[in-house]
Amino acid sequence: MEETTTLWSQVIQCALKKGILSETTPKAFIYHLEQLQNTWKQLFEAFPPKTLHTFALKACPVKGILSLAFSCGFGAECASIGEVYLAKSFGCPPGKIVFDSPVKTSEDLKLALNDGIYINADNFQELEKIQHLLRQNDELSKKVEVRVGLRVNPQIGSGLIQETSTASAHSKFGVPLKEKREEIIECFEKYWFLQGLHVHVGSQGCTWELLEQGIRAVVDLFVQLEQLFPGRVKTIDMGGGLSADYDGLSQGASFAEYVSRLGKVVPELFDSSLQLITEFGRRLCAKAAIFVSRVEYTKQVGDRNIVSSHIGADNFLRPVYLPKNWKHRILVLDKQGEEKKWDRYENPMIEQDIVGPLCFSGDVFATGRLLPRCEVGDWLVVLDSGAYTLSMYSRHTSQRVPAVYGFHVQLFQLLKKEESLEDLVKFWS
Ligand SMILES: *Cc1c(COP(=O)(O)O)cnc(C)c1O
Repeated sequence: MEETTTLWSQVIQCALKKGILSETTPKAFIYHLEQLQNTWKQLFEAFPPKTLHTFALKACPVKGILSLAFSCGFGAECASIGEVYLAKSFGCPPGKIVFDSPVKTSEDLKLALNDGIYINADNFQELEKIQHLLRQNDELSKKVEVRVGLRVNPQIGSGLIQETSTASAHSKFGVPLKEKREEIIECFEKYWFLQGLHVHVGSQGCTWELLEQGIRAVVDLFVQLEQLFPGRVKTIDMGGGLSADYDGLSQGASFAEYVSRLGKVVPELFDSSLQLITEFGRRLCAKAAIFVSRVEYTKQVGDRNIVSSHIGADNFLRPVYLPKNWKHRILVLDKQGEEKKWDRYENPMIEQDIVGPLCFSGDVFATGRLLPRCEVGDWLVVLDSGAYTLSMYSRHTSQRVPAVYGFHVQLFQLLKKEESLEDLVKFWS
């Protein structure tokens, strides 16, 4: 924690000097670009070189981050046709895009097929729809390579967080393996274009054992398919789901360790004839960024110390609605960006409620958090804010979307401008 505190306190001091943070620009996201790229490097080094690593756009769709990722060799995991369009616009070659939405329309599928994008079908009806589209347009499969996988739900149960688990018995995603194994196998007879299997067990809160068990179940299916139709399955997409540690006690699950464990549990995954795809999101960008907010007001109400800030459900939807699952660490810095002083006797830490700007009582980011006493003009830093924060932005009360900066050797790069009042009018018009 010491090291993290020093690092970010220096970044904030630099931002204050440059006027990036001030009374009139009281909030921002800041990504530490070197940290970000170090994490990515660890991923690329851990897996065999020909693995296709896709970046799950829904974790952080900011252009500056994505175009950097694509230039480092990432492909894109897209959860909607909108994300497919973003990925292409930000420089991802269509051949490295994986299209994963559970609700694709015919129009979405046509666009993706035309670009030769890899599609993971969610269910049997979608395979049928693809077949129909290809029959309608028989020129298409001559023009581009048609590559389709099937998402399989290994039905191995939930992780620690129900809402981000996708492999329970009744999950809405994929084809339930335990009930439909025979039908899945028949699909490989029925659909010539089917060439891959996809599994994604869930996000944050899935243990390594759970992730591995899910992949193992799908690889067992692959082994069975190999006996029936040798060489037919060309691609295994093992999904994402590696957690980030929000408590800061460890460095987060290491890619190298994950690969070494997978090597033991599912060695077939690294069979050199297979194209392996990964789809990490959170683990790629959560820890390299902070959200900063000025303390605007403090008040005492009954026995509670309330600290009003810009940290609310607009940027932190999940932490505000499910606080027990998403407990971000908070730093308090003074007006100059120095770590806020406290001592045991004269000026002890006190329990404070960190609340946001939205007009509902539930807009509380942290309740009774033990922190140095906050004063107006101090800076609150929310650690590990790089994934599933801004990307889940809520428009409630029309707070303006904050600016996003990249930080690299004393320099700030504006990655996304703060929303203007005119932008807001445009959105609601
Ligand atoms: C969200 C999602 C991911 C990324 O999950 P992380 O937990 O961020 O790694 C990957 N694949 C699919 C299909 C997803 O829905």
